[in-house]
Amino acid sequence: MNYLDLYNSGELLRRVRTAYARLKSCDLCPHDCRVNRLAGETGVCRSGALPRVASANVHRGEEPPISGTRGSGTIFFSNCNLRCRFCQNFPISQFGNGEDVTTRELSARMLKLQRQRAHNLNLVTPSHFLPQFLAALYLAIGEGFRLPIVWNSNGYERVDALELLDGVVDIYLPDMKYVAEDPAVNFSSAHGYREINRRAVREMLRQVGHLQLDEEGIGVRGLIVRHLVLPEGHAGSRETLRWISENLGGDTHISLMKQFFPAHEAGQIPGIHRKITDEEYEAAVEALEEAGLENGWVQE
Ligand code: SF4
Repeated sequence: MNYLDLYNSGELLRRVRTAYARLKSCDLCPHDCRVNRLAGETGVCRSGALPRVASANVHRGEEPPISGTRGSGTIFFSNCNLRCRFCQNFPISQFGNGEDVTTRELSARMLKLQRQRAHNLNLVTPSHFLPQFLAALYLAIGEGFRLPIVWNSNGYERVDALELLDGVVDIYLPDMKYVAEDPAVNFSSAHGYREINRRAVREMLRQVGHLQLDEEGIGVRGLIVRHLVLPEGHAGSRETLRWISENLGGDTHISLMKQFFPAHEAGQIPGIHRKITDEEYEAAVEALEEAGLENGWVQE
C-alpha cells in the first residue's frame, strides 16, 4: 500500500478529514493541548490552522540515502512541539520564523521540489502540521506528485497520529533524544519522552520496516533513527542504543550525531553549556559497537 493507493481508494481524503477534525481540540501530539486551532487558539506548538513554512529547498546535508546525488527536497516547518533550549534552528522552531501558507501553496512547493529532481520530499519537524501536510499531499497527487516521503521528526509523537501516516510515509527519520525524565523536561519540556518516543519509533518500524535501498543506494523505504550525543551523558546514549538493538533489532540504521553545540539558551544552562568532547562521542561509538548496531553512520 502506498499513498497513490490511498488516494485512489478515497482513504487519503478520509484521513485528511479525520486529521483536521483533531485540530478542533488538538490532540495531535503528546502535549494534548485541547485547543481549537481551527478557531485560532494555539497550544505548546504555537501553531494555528495554516501550515507555517520557513523554507523549501533541495538540501544535500542529510544522511547519504536521503540526500543521494541530487539532494533531498526539504521543507522546514516553523514552530515545534518541543522546546529544546539548545535548538540549533531556534529562530525557526522557537521564534516561528517563516510564513503562513495555504495547503494549496504547500502543495505547489512540494511539486516544485519534484520538478527540481529531488530524490524525496523531506518534511522537517512536521508533527504539529500533520493534517495540513495530508491535505497538501492530496492536492499535490492530483497534480502529479510522486516523490517518496521522509518524515523527519523529533520523535515526540502519538501512535494514533502516526497511524494516519501508515502507507503515506516511506522513510521515517525520528530522533531518539533522551532516556531520563529530568533532561527531557528541563531541556525540551518533553514529559514522558522515553516511553512516548519508544512507542512512536516501534510504530514507525511496524509501518515501514528496516531501511531498504535501491541499486544506487538511495533510500526507498524504512527507518533511520537519529541520536544526538549530548554532554555529560544527558542523552542516555548507551541505554538508547542497547534498547534499539534489543527491541528494534540489530539491522536498525542509526545516525549517531556529534554536532551538538550550545545554541539558543544552552550557554547559560549547566550540563549543556559546552560542546561534547571527542571522548564523549567515542564512548557513544563504542556503545554502538557493543550493541551490535552495524548499519548507519558515525561522524569523523
Ligand atoms: S500539535 Fe500543538 S496544539 Fe496540538 S497537542 Fe501538540 S503542541 Fe498542542
